[in-house]
Amino acid sequence: MSLNLDEESLRNIVRNVLAQMGNEPKQTCSCKNKASAPNVYVASSSSSSNNGIFTDVKQAAEAAFEGYKQLCKGGFAARQKVIDIVKSMTVANAKEWGTFEFNETKIGRLADKIGKLEIVKLVPGIEWIRPDSYSGDFGIMHEEYCPYGVIGSITPVTHSVPTIAGNIINMVAAGNAIVFNPHPGGVKSAVMAISAYNQAIEKELGIKNLICCIANPTLESFDAICKNDLISIMCITGGPGVVNAAMKSGKKSICAGPGNPPVIVDDTVDINKAAADIIAGGAFDNNLLCIGEKEVFVLESVLDKFMAALSANGAVKISSNAVDKLSKTVFDNKNGHYVLKRDLVGKDPQELAMAAGTSVGSAAKMLFAQTDANHPFVIEEQMMPMLPIVAVRSFEEAIDAAMKAEHNYRHSAIIHSLDVTRMTAMARALNTTLFVKNGPSTAGLGLGGEGYLSYSIATTTGEGISNPKTFTRRRRCVMVDNLNIF
Ligand code: NAD
Repeated sequence: MSLNLDEESLRNIVRNVLAQMGNEPKQTCSCKNKASAPNVYVASSSSSSNNGIFTDVKQAAEAAFEGYKQLCKGGFAARQKVIDIVKSMTVANAKEWGTFEFNETKIGRLADKIGKLEIVKLVPGIEWIRPDSYSGDFGIMHEEYCPYGVIGSITPVTHSVPTIAGNIINMVAAGNAIVFNPHPGGVKSAVMAISAYNQAIEKELGIKNLICCIANPTLESFDAICKNDLISIMCITGGPGVVNAAMKSGKKSICAGPGNPPVIVDDTVDINKAAADIIAGGAFDNNLLCIGEKEVFVLESVLDKFMAALSANGAVKISSNAVDKLSKTVFDNKNGHYVLKRDLVGKDPQELAMAAGTSVGSAAKMLFAQTDANHPFVIEEQMMPMLPIVAVRSFEEAIDAAMKAEHNYRHSAIIHSLDVTRMTAMARALNTTLFVKNGPSTAGLGLGGEGYLSYSIATTTGEGISNPKTFTRRRRCVMVDNLNIF
């Protein structure tokens, strides 16, 4: 049977979800884009078919715990079925759901919003959950990767449904149920996708509420997730505020935190290819990706050639005055500390150019400007297609400046060089979770490079590019003096 919901079913889900919006629960989230935070009302859990959507964390956690017990009964076959459902529905509905999310969040690029859903099939599944065994003189030892139970997952506005879909695949492959607290700016998209997944899971497997979602996410609902005893661990995907809050919560948290990935370009490399790769990664979804190229340090001997190559590959240079004007719109200067305002995050280069007092053609993929190493566009994670280019006199100067810009987030870094000594030096100095050599940043997630995809890269707490094993407890069984058959 096809797992693709037909158009009428999808419309019904969206209609039902949207029909329930309009009540006005308290919106207390501190996130800046309150304007797009929806007012959502969803039937209480006493309703027989709320498809995983709850307004109350306690009810959501209890329902998810029941879902977890049902999943345990279904074994690996049930996990695989859920993964098949989530992958096939996400891919089949990529265009509609990507458009829905684009219209809700009003950030990024439509084609890339759709593309991020189509590639969800690259997230790994139950094949990662293999036990380890050892047989020796004193018997055997067997270790299994077991579920935690219910996971609380906090997701960003930059990729609402892709992060949710990727997390479900990883977490259910490991045998867990989930309660999502999405970013308020992307909650309608989250509710739409999660309702649809639950409906299909219930129809195929008879499991209700395996994936729950808080329909009116707030700081209070985050706090309630931290305190709920049925929720064993949390997975946080977001910026410094939520990561700090999770780390202080007392609940074990796997934190996929902020980044500000620096790029170094040296004089040994094909400059045209380096420029094309940097634009491919940095312009993707208007630079919303946490792994995306955010600032470039280039050896001054190849600066002019590099900037000409950026122009030749579709980026447009703006003047120092224009970038300074733009930075005054993009950042608040609070006693020497720059704070990103959200208004221009993920916007098109054309809109950024207007804010900079200039204009660029509709074909412009990205803006760039030469700045110094302390410019706010270099130092802050700007999440928009405006790339600061810093000329450096030596490779050592490039590394020092890149380390400063990366803030020891240990997230991502990129180098374009053919010199392995320099590659090694940068890898050791930056100490990032992801380090891409001679390709776009996206190659680090299996898109044109080797490796698997995840939308939650556990940088802060060190689990790395998350996969099913990330969401397991390791448990050991030992048989003494027996069952060893060698
Ligand atoms: P954000 O930090 O504003 O929000 C992320 C989530 O945390 C949302 O659900 C939000 O409602 C919640 N939140 C925010 N502040 C909170 C607080 N003080 N207490 C409780 N919850 C809070 O981030 P965003 O704009 O949605 O996403 C962009 C950020 O996320 C960037 O910093 C980016 O680098 C990071 N990110 C990291 C990864 C990764 O895999 N490491 C992936 C995507 C995004």
